[in-house]
Amino acid sequence: MDLSKLLAERTAYMRASEIRELLKWATADVISFGGGMPDPSTFPLEEIARISSYVLETYGNKALQYGQTEGVPELRDELAKFAASNGIKATADNVIVTVGSQEALELLGRLFLDERSVVVTENPTYIAALQSWRVYRPKLVGIPMDDRGMRTEVLEEQVRKLKAEGARIKFIYTVPTAQNPTGVTMTDDRRRHLLEIAEQNDLLVVEDDPYGYFIFDNISVTRLKALDKSGRVIYLSTASKIFSPGLRLGWVVADQELIRWFALAKQALNLNTPTLNQYLLLEGLRRGVIQRNIPRIVELYRKKRDAMLTALEAYMPKGVSWTKPSGGMFIWVKVPEKIDTKEMLNVAIAKYKVAYVPGHGFHVNEGEGRNTMRLNFTYSSFEQIDVGIKRLADAIREFL
Ligand code: PMP
Repeated sequence: MDLSKLLAERTAYMRASEIRELLKWATADVISFGGGMPDPSTFPLEEIARISSYVLETYGNKALQYGQTEGVPELRDELAKFAASNGIKATADNVIVTVGSQEALELLGRLFLDERSVVVTENPTYIAALQSWRVYRPKLVGIPMDDRGMRTEVLEEQVRKLKAEGARIKFIYTVPTAQNPTGVTMTDDRRRHLLEIAEQNDLLVVEDDPYGYFIFDNISVTRLKALDKSGRVIYLSTASKIFSPGLRLGWVVADQELIRWFALAKQALNLNTPTLNQYLLLEGLRRGVIQRNIPRIVELYRKKRDAMLTALEAYMPKGVSWTKPSGGMFIWVKVPEKIDTKEMLNVAIAKYKVAYVPGHGFHVNEGEGRNTMRLNFTYSSFEQIDVGIKRLADAIREFL
């Protein structure tokens, strides 16, 4: 059959995730810094096993039944408390449970975007957010970053310009803490500036926060949602990095009116987030499994980050630079302009047995970031980090 005659026009804007394509290559002898996977030793396997039997015994058929679209009420309540422990004021009514925060990104697209919409994001930004939204054909406006996060003075200027053109800015999307892909954390003064700009221009802000739990250094981080006085911040978080990504559990904290819209859009997508998994998270939070897991993960990832930074310092040729993240899972590397990291990838995998994510896909505009790449430091072992960075340095040398 010739599917091309049947597929909707919007499918032309669907792109395979380069990261997912790449994971297929991660055979045993290739060291992959490509995926965004947690270290599996951080999954509280035994406790989840115990919780599973407890949940089935205690909640029985309730845990196997369809559930409310907004989520299991006790979990919404527990997530509101968890948010409060991170400085965010919320009640159960401000929470909707989603299938990972990826679903929340998709729901944002469904709710807010059409062809005349404008989304303002950090540039580079999270690749799968762009992927979710591109099908709705919005104009994406990227704001450059430096080592203090999104350059909010550029944001201010851009918002002014866009407003003057009559643009319909739907929201500002930011991963302010330990950003994917750069690892950079936005400073508190920039956070306040961003909110001021949103306030003055009556804009929504989407704060995507999978990594706010992993700060390795002694820096202060205040969530944007904790500073939000007028209900304009839509806060997204996830159990993927602190409990288990396979359970596919995320949540949104926002004003009640927004939660109602999210629920309406979610009804048509999947009715509810898997009930059994929600009960697992509920018990994980109630028993403090997650709260105890976080400091352990921080310790491990700090050491892994340090190992990767040490290896980069030791092996990389001159002209290569990288970020020094205070948290999260990623380091962002810039190689000399003459190297196209997408072209280099095949050789890196086939000859040098090392993989990474080429940086261009994280950029808002075609052709940007050709000489950049994202490295994940959480999944590989310490030995693989050392050997893999050495291999990567050799690959780069071949292309210099
Ligand atoms: N947002 C960001 C910034 C991410 O890095 C990720 C995970 N890689 C997600 C959202 C989606 O995570 P999940 O769906 O597993 O919650």
